[in-house]
Amino acid sequence: MRGAVLYGPRDVRFEERDAPKIVKPTDAIIRLSATCVCGSDLWPYRGVNPTARPTPMGHEYCGIVEDVGSAVRGIKLGQFVIGSFFASDNTCPICRAGYQSSCQHAELIGGAQAPLLRVPLADGTLVGTRDVPTEQLIPSLLALSDVMGTGWFAADAARVKPGMSVAVVGDGAVGLLAVLSAKLMGAERIIAMSRHESRQKLAREFGATDIVAERGDEGVERIKDMTKGIGADAVMECVGTQQSMLQAIRSTRRGGYISYVGVPHGVQLDGEQMFFSHVHLHGGPAPVRRFLPNLIELVYDRKINPGKVFDLTLPLDQVAEGYRAMDERRAIKTLLRP
Ligand SMILES: [Zn+2]
Repeated sequence: MRGAVLYGPRDVRFEERDAPKIVKPTDAIIRLSATCVCGSDLWPYRGVNPTARPTPMGHEYCGIVEDVGSAVRGIKLGQFVIGSFFASDNTCPICRAGYQSSCQHAELIGGAQAPLLRVPLADGTLVGTRDVPTEQLIPSLLALSDVMGTGWFAADAARVKPGMSVAVVGDGAVGLLAVLSAKLMGAERIIAMSRHESRQKLAREFGATDIVAERGDEGVERIKDMTKGIGADAVMECVGTQQSMLQAIRSTRRGGYISYVGVPHGVQLDGEQMFFSHVHLHGGPAPVRRFLPNLIELVYDRKINPGKVFDLTLPLDQVAEGYRAMDERRAIKTLLRP
């Protein structure tokens, strides 16, 4: 089979790789209906994270079960499934506490930008849908694998409740879906921070009530102006830079909640500033598995349409263009069809 392999900065190749096989009895092999490029794939693509050796790319997936190991019980051949970017047993104490992405047996999924994918711990990782979905539902179901699950975690970790004022830092696909999640959780005022017109439009469609284009001190001032001078009850940080993290902390009211779901790159927090900011901080790799059953129902019931973040669809063999379009911010998120 052919799949995407990253060789170094801005060097993604679509090339021949060994098709995955069952390695452990708890594995499954999935034939992917769709996959995509993640904002976090751009860190190694841009060379911010070095690529030591050619690396198969991709960790977002949904599709049909093609093979299962001898110990797999719950997942059946021919079933349509979605899983998280971390495989998890879903039985250990950390999984039971709802943090499957930190499972004691967690394994990072890789190589999903390909026609076939090996998923470890299939029974714990994969969630089946009620039937094989129509084409129309595929983008939204694919989004649950990471980007929607992460947006939902952003709102969950920031304890968004009905009536709250919330702000979202970051207008990438995760930030936009954090807006959608906050809306579903009943936030009254949802301030999206964005400078890009097409993203502002989608943010509004997903439920943003206000847009703030300013950043830094001006951005903080704008949010305070909108929240009686005290800052937002909850702020979701969906970028992972020093600037975005400080923006989030300074925009939150004393005693409020901040979630951070962008992988931090060079973020350093000052103890004294943290102490006097009086905020709650909670983040990390989203435990998407916890949310999958509920989110699948919401997609099937047409209550959410997170697939709207895919504004570019390409055949898988054009994966390099998919990366370029996101790197240059011509696309919010690229869906790839194997
Ligand atoms: Zn576990």
